Amino acid sequence: MNGACLKTEKSQHLLKLAEEVTPAGVHSPVRAFGAVGGCPRFIERGEGAYLFDVDGNRYLDFCSSWGPLILGHAAPDVVAAVKEQVDRGMTFGASTELEYKLAQFIVSRIEAIDKIRFVSSGTEAVMSAVRLARGFTGRDMILKFEGCYHGHSDHLLVRAGSGLVTFGQPASAGVPGDITKNTAVLPLDDEEALQEFFKEHGDKLAAVIIEGIPANNGLLIQRHDYMRLLRALTEQHGALLILDEVITGFRVGFGGAAEYYGLRPDLITYGKIIGGGMPVGAFGGRADIMDHIAPLGPVYQAGTLSGNPVAMTAGLATLKKLTTDNVYAEMEDRNRRFVSKITERLTSSIVNIAGVASIFWILFQRDIPRSASAIAPDGINHYNRMHKRMLEAGIYLPPSGYEVCFLSTAHTDEMLDDAAETIERIIGEEAHEWA
Ligand SMILES: *Cc1c(COP(=O)(O)O)cnc(C)c1O
Repeated sequence: MNGACLKTEKSQHLLKLAEEVTPAGVHSPVRAFGAVGGCPRFIERGEGAYLFDVDGNRYLDFCSSWGPLILGHAAPDVVAAVKEQVDRGMTFGASTELEYKLAQFIVSRIEAIDKIRFVSSGTEAVMSAVRLARGFTGRDMILKFEGCYHGHSDHLLVRAGSGLVTFGQPASAGVPGDITKNTAVLPLDDEEALQEFFKEHGDKLAAVIIEGIPANNGLLIQRHDYMRLLRALTEQHGALLILDEVITGFRVGFGGAAEYYGLRPDLITYGKIIGGGMPVGAFGGRADIMDHIAPLGPVYQAGTLSGNPVAMTAGLATLKKLTTDNVYAEMEDRNRRFVSKITERLTSSIVNIAGVASIFWILFQRDIPRSASAIAPDGINHYNRMHKRMLEAGIYLPPSGYEVCFLSTAHTDEMLDDAAETIERIIGEEAHEWA
């Protein structure tokens, strides 16, 4: 592959045009390939496990649109259902049976969810769940963890500071300190810090929010004991536990991380997979909490396109498929085989792969981290340098070393065997340059 460069002329041309009318030419920042360099590909179509760009290049896709595409691109069942629905109209701004069907499908299968409400993104789901937790408890303070991403609402764009606990340092310009002053940030995987925090602030805390399995800043799989302690402390202090399952929901098993940890959160937020590729988010949980939402209760929340019929159809077709056969067990097996194949043959280099269910994360350090500060920035830089070569070899990895990879049901053993060989070869070739 050395020296062989894919044609990217059309992508480059489109990027130039897009840059004239859109900041950096992209509608979500990481798509600009800022971390990895090279030309962001403009995609023409997807099919199963493959992406095709406008220059006619084909890539085995491990980004899966950042998680939603658990059935792969243009999954036939989902596409057929959506096509049928589109003919009946795109939105009504009134209730449909489809909303009920998707809600009922989830409520009847997810233990912690008595009632659910649909929104249009993960950000919106989390924002609404936090407002609900505050309205329900009558408290303002929330706790989040360093390395967890919960969308881009103001209250959650908060940076970890130098101390163990920090409050309210905005992580973005345009977020007033006044808005984030009620958001505390703790490191993950630190029981002592958690206990200290609850001793001092527990009774003022509306909610703790944590990703089901943190997967937005590397894959930081938490220990069961830690999650159990979090549940126990929130219960003792009357704070709600919000499990942000926007990635993990319907991904690490149908029951998400709640099932994985054997945990019953008070509220769960969804996004990504729940819309089957369409923009859907949701929040749900205990009925007594959910009934505080307008119009039953005093916590306001609304959405013009919430419960959109086409999106509900895509979501329902996707979730139905996920409850058939051995979908999760098979993806997990394939992932495990794939990951061990790469790591077994690269014993001399420091490549490591963290994996859970159908998620994997390639990292370049010996120990698999459980907290943000345990991630080696050098390793991330190494990934970023490697990204371009993977792309040229037809492997589409997420364009940042902090992002995780997702398998879909469309990734076959044969595809993964080929990819393992390519990845192993490229990492092997790069390793001596780096070591
Ligand atoms: C993607 C993500 C969000 C935000 O969802 P959007 O649909 O991008 O707004 C929130 N929380 C987690 C855990 C996510 O992975």
